[in-house]
This record gives sequence, C-alpha cells and structure tokens, in this order.
Amino acid sequence: MDCLFCKIVAGQIPSTKVYEDDQVLAFRDIAPQAPTHILVIPKAHMASVAEVSPENSGVVAHIFEVIAQIAKAEGLENGYRVVSNCGDDAGQTVHHLHFHILGGKRLALEMA
Ligand code: 5GP
Ligand code: ZN
Repeated sequence: MDCLFCKIVAGQIPSTKVYEDDQVLAFRDIAPQAPTHILVIPKAHMASVAEVSPENSGVVAHIFEVIAQIAKAEGLENGYRVVSNCGDDAGQTVHHLHFHILGGKRLALEMA
C-alpha cells in the first residue's frame, strides 16, 4: 500500500508520536499551522470521512475520546479546533483518514 500514513503506522517513516494504542496513532504534523498541531489517525487504512460506515465508525468514536485526552495532556484548556479535510475541494493531501488538532493560539475564524 503506497500510503504515507500507513508507512508511519508501520514505522517505515519516523514521526513524533504523542499517543498510540492498538487502533489509533497520534503524531505531530511535520508542517505545524499552530503552536500545537497533531494528527490523529486510525491504524487501519480508510481514505477519508467519506468512507466512515456502520462497520468502521467505532474507531472514529474512539478517535474523539483520544482527541479529548490529548487536548488535556497538551494543555489546550483555552480551546482548540478539530478538522478533517475530505476530498479535493477541501484540499485533502494525504488520503488516509486523519483529524487535525490545532491549538495554542487564537485561530482564524474563516472556514472557506
Ligand atoms: P491534509 O492536507 O490531507 O488535511 O493534511 C495532511 C497533513 O499531513 C498536512 O498538515 C501535512 O503537513 C502533514 N504531513 C504530510 N506529510 C507528513 C509527514 O511525513 N509526517 C508528518 N508528521 N506529517 C505530514
Ligand atoms: Zn493508509
């Protein structure tokens, strides 16, 4: 599988991990857009939010539990943003589902 984030899961590409369990990996974004910029991904490949289904949505629920835990551990008590770009119009560049956690500064409000 020629997928960058599958390679990070497999340890073939190094990453700065902040959380890992049997289903989920979180690591720091290589090009941070905010003082805290972490990516949270399922270890099992799925391309984007568009592929979430009754069969695999359990891992997405688990990812949101992990996001809350990471935000606390990172000291983001002043707030943070969770973003998932889905498809070309959203500018998705890595086609393995991921949720950005952005925080540590007052974020711009524009969404489009
Ligand atoms: P997208 O644009 O698909 O929503 O987000 C992809 C994110 O992956 C970008 O924020 C980009 O900086 C990050 N990224 C791309 N390649 C790597 C890499 O090799 N390592 C890490 N840690 N992040 C990466
Ligand atoms: Zn993948």
